[in-house]
Formats: sequence, C-alpha cells, structure tokens
Amino acid sequence: KISYYNGEFLEDDQVAVDYNDRAVYFGDGVYEVVRIYDNEIFTFEEHLERLVNSAKEIRIKIDKDEIRHIMIQMKEKNKLPNAALYIQVSRGIEGRTHLFPKEGVKPVVLSFINKIERPVDAMREGVKVVTRDDYRWLKCHIKSLNLLSNTLLKQEAKDSGATEAILHRDGRVTEGTSTNVFAIKDGVLHTHEANNLILNGITRQYVIKLAQALDIPVKEEAFTVDFLKEADEVFITSTTQEITPVISVDEVNIGDGIAGEVTKKLQDAFEKGI
Ligand code: PLP
Repeated sequence: KISYYNGEFLEDDQVAVDYNDRAVYFGDGVYEVVRIYDNEIFTFEEHLERLVNSAKEIRIKIDKDEIRHIMIQMKEKNKLPNAALYIQVSRGIEGRTHLFPKEGVKPVVLSFINKIERPVDAMREGVKVVTRDDYRWLKCHIKSLNLLSNTLLKQEAKDSGATEAILHRDGRVTEGTSTNVFAIKDGVLHTHEANNLILNGITRQYVIKLAQALDIPVKEEAFTVDFLKEADEVFITSTTQEITPVISVDEVNIGDGIAGEVTKKLQDAFEKGI
C-alpha cells in the first residue's frame, strides 16, 4: 500500500512521521475521510471544500488543487476500488511550542488508504446507541484532529454494549461521536441545524437532499433526548456508516426495534443516487 507524508508517496511501512509534526503534540490540524466506491471518490468536491474551510477556521492555509491532486494520486497508485481514504493537514513541523511556527514553515499532509466494505449488517439490522453529555469544545463544525472527547465517548458506548454515543447539550441532541443523528416523527425528518455544535456531515447534507427529492419534510432544528426516544425512527449517518438505523437508545426501543420504513426508503435512494 502507498501512503503520503510531507511531500512523498511511500510504501506504507516506510512512512516515518516527524515527532515535531504539530499533529503529534497538539493535534494541530484538520482531516477528512472520503469513501471510494467503484474507483470514484464520492462527494469529492464537498469534502475538499470542507477541508479547506476547517483549515481556514484554525488559520492554516491550504491549496485545494494540491490536496485534490494528492487524493487522486493516492487513489490511482493504490488501485483499491472500494476504500476509505484518509487525509490530514497539520500546521507543520517545528520544535514544540504552543505558538504557531515561524513564517515559512509549511503545512504537512499525511494520507493513507484502507480497503473497506459497506457496513451491510449494521445497515440492515440497525445498531444500539447510548446518550452522553456533549462536553466537547464549541467549535465542533471544524473537522479537527483533536478527537479525545470523541474517542472517550465512543469507548463508553462500546463498554455499555452500544455502537455509538449520541451526544446532547443540556438535553438537546447534537450528534454522535463520529456520526450525525436524524429522528423521524410523524413523517418529518429532524436533525440538528448546521452550526458550531455539530460537524456538518457530507452524508448529512446528502441525506437532506435525498429527503427533499423524496418529498420528505426536513426540519433542521435541535430536538431533545426525550424526543429522540419517542421518535418513530432514528438513524445515524457518516461517510463510512452511510445510513445506519438506530434500534434502541439507552435500551429504549425505537418504534418496533427494527429499521424503519422511511429509513429504508432513504437507504434505497442513497444506493441509487439522486
Ligand atoms: N460528526 C462527527 C463528529 C464526525 O466525526 C463525523 C465523521 O467522521 C460525522 C459527523 C459525519 O460526517 P461525514 O458524513 O462527512 O462523514
């Protein structure tokens, strides 16, 4: 497998990350995960745009064309028709100091690829989730490398026999640790508005478009944990999880405790494309 680090394409086991890369000490950077289906990068431009915006929010300047080129090269060199491609951009390499590096220090790009399959079992059977307090910072719209809260909370979910932790601030559902959350009540699709409290998922945006094409009303507004538990259907979305039904929240069954009809309709539409 070929990976990319700091200007070079290398065999995976030849990559040596510099310990002075600010990604190492500070998680000082941003990233994207894209899905390759049948040799095509899915929603490529949307991911590129979000990466550039995330970088801008933390004052890292990146060249979108350069990133696009690296990603295409990664795809072509690895020839994995169905894969997840990771790319991160850190603020650069300089001895450890909180202050930004001196002028001239360039951002550093790291990219690797993994062959993956679609999560067909989870998409059919659904998953259990638990709710947790969202104690992350207030800039969750940035796809930052700092994922300590997300990893702690995801592990708590696993430890309680669930797949994902659904986060809430004072009882209002924001998102999952690595997914966006949707609830369906009386035919209306609800999800948190795209603001600083959530990552505006590319899958989230795609699902909203699918819903609109299917004449399913969409309400982008925060809802409560109680509303979530009383919803007719719940699902989570992400680049790798696609549209995964949620069958229980804190051990409370959602609907009949199986994947719901509207969820299935959206999954079918996702499969076919708009
Ligand atoms: N929310 C968080 C916190 C995430 O980390 C992710 C993706 O990893 C998502 C939502 C889903 O985003 P996307 O659909 O762009 O993969």
